[in-house]
Amino acid sequence: MNDESQKEKLRQHFARRVTTQARVVLDTWQKIRDDRSQAPAHRDDLTAAADKLVRYARRFEMDSHAAAGELILSLLTDWHQDTPLDDAKAKALEDATENLRLSTQRRTDQDTSSAPQQYRRTPVYIALSNEEMASRLIRQLEFFGFRASAFSASADLIEACALSKPETILMDVSFGGRDNDGIATVEQLQEQHDTPIPIIFVSDEDGSIETRLRASRCGGEEFFYPAVDPGQLIEKIETYTHGNTVEPYKVLVLDDSRAQAKYMETVLKKAGMTAHIITDPMQIIHALEEFSPEIIILDMYMPGCTGMEIARVIRQQDRFHSVPIIYLSAEEDVSKQLHAMSLGGDDFLTKPIDPKHLIATLHNRGRRARSLLALMIRDSLTGLFNHTHTLHLLEQEIVRARQKDQPMCFAMIDIDFFKKVNDTFGHPIGDRILRSLSMFLKQRLRKTDHIGRYGGEEFAIILPNTRPGDARNVLNEIRERFSELTQQAGDREFNVTFSCGIADWQGETAQALCERADRALYTSKEHGRNCVTLAET
Ligand code: GH3
Ligand code: MG
Ligand code: MG
Repeated sequence: MNDESQKEKLRQHFARRVTTQARVVLDTWQKIRDDRSQAPAHRDDLTAAADKLVRYARRFEMDSHAAAGELILSLLTDWHQDTPLDDAKAKALEDATENLRLSTQRRTDQDTSSAPQQYRRTPVYIALSNEEMASRLIRQLEFFGFRASAFSASADLIEACALSKPETILMDVSFGGRDNDGIATVEQLQEQHDTPIPIIFVSDEDGSIETRLRASRCGGEEFFYPAVDPGQLIEKIETYTHGNTVEPYKVLVLDDSRAQAKYMETVLKKAGMTAHIITDPMQIIHALEEFSPEIIILDMYMPGCTGMEIARVIRQQDRFHSVPIIYLSAEEDVSKQLHAMSLGGDDFLTKPIDPKHLIATLHNRGRRARSLLALMIRDSLTGLFNHTHTLHLLEQEIVRARQKDQPMCFAMIDIDFFKKVNDTFGHPIGDRILRSLSMFLKQRLRKTDHIGRYGGEEFAIILPNTRPGDARNVLNEIRERFSELTQQAGDREFNVTFSCGIADWQGETAQALCERADRALYTSKEHGRNCVTLAET
């Protein structure tokens, strides 16, 4: 490696330390902002984090970070320990941290080695004995848009977890030096959290049942022995990074008794579910459309109609054909209950209802309904939406764009020379690349964008409320980053690219929009592939 590139590498390394510290500051501020009553308890943490940031940033000559950190420190000087945070100060701190957030984003935009599009709140921690492997993983994870940090000492890892609980930790069983030191660290860590952090353990030396048991007892969800390659690890890490973001179940309750309905609402909200309550059965159609419930709870007897009649009406609509319906009633006659269930109900709960029983039933029904729905609308290889559902979403988004008078874009992606990849490295490696591109897209696009597997090696993306120029910039960035990603097949390394065509919606039908995007994609292929083309208007 020549001198210049060595220096550049070092620069990037230090830059990452500063941006990592900036994120610690941002995370700490987020904690204060989320729960102001606990603010004084985190004041010192924020001071310490900002102070460290300023020192790092000065040392590595990152001026905007240093300035942003100094501003935060100066704001903290007259907020005294154990006093509440007043609104004016909170506003000033909010502005100052926003400033820092912008510096961090600008920095990563220039820094080609790491450019997450979005600021992901929850990090992934890496604690491996093999430092080279750790830094390689970090690089790859950052490519995917994860926020990953590596640690070389147990104490640092424990400190970081206390400050910002990670979504998952990749942990070497012998991290810290001796056999099982890594497990001991995890045992210590988990004690500090109400819900355990899912851990992915790896071991090069010890795959014994004793070690596996101990690892599993302290939150080990996976155990890799012998250790596997980075591609497999990243896929595993991805599966544990959505745990914290499981969407709350959407439950619709219809009960003519206002008191009963209110009570249900309280119970559901307490359990972290999203509740929508109606007391007039005639509102049911409107509520279904507005709220799109995943589970419906119906009172059996109401003035004007029964719950069973309402269930039949609900079942007549295709969209709600498989939404679980749970009856709630004081009815104890089992034969009447069975009759009610035969008319489109899934479960019967008797009033007065034990909240624990209700929530357990809802969880079971909800989980099952979601996995059934996933089978219907998702592609099994990548977990993305399948072709049919993608088109369905496109039609929905067209309606929405028209109603709200907003722009919308549709993009088609096709992997370049994919046949050759299969021929050279085999179908399983081809499959892994499809998964890796889908992960890449999921990590880098907004939550409001819809990503589908359109066909074999083709993907479709719906970008609501997006102008064509912005869509092109985002997809071009993703294209460039993806092409830099090192793919692995055994010990061979290679790169894969894709071509993309984008069409912005101009009032046409979904089909016409798809065709324009497809033509733009074809133009990209004609122009030598690995590029993005915006459809002509
Ligand atoms: P181009 O740059 O023109 O797109 O070339 P290409 O080779 O990517 O295009 P072509 O349409 O000729 O080949 C697509 C290949 O994608 C053929 C098929 O074997 C492969 N493929 C489709 N679905 C899957 C899949 O689920 N898994 C794997 N491994 N390969 C798939
Ligand atoms: Mg193709
Ligand atoms: Mg192709």
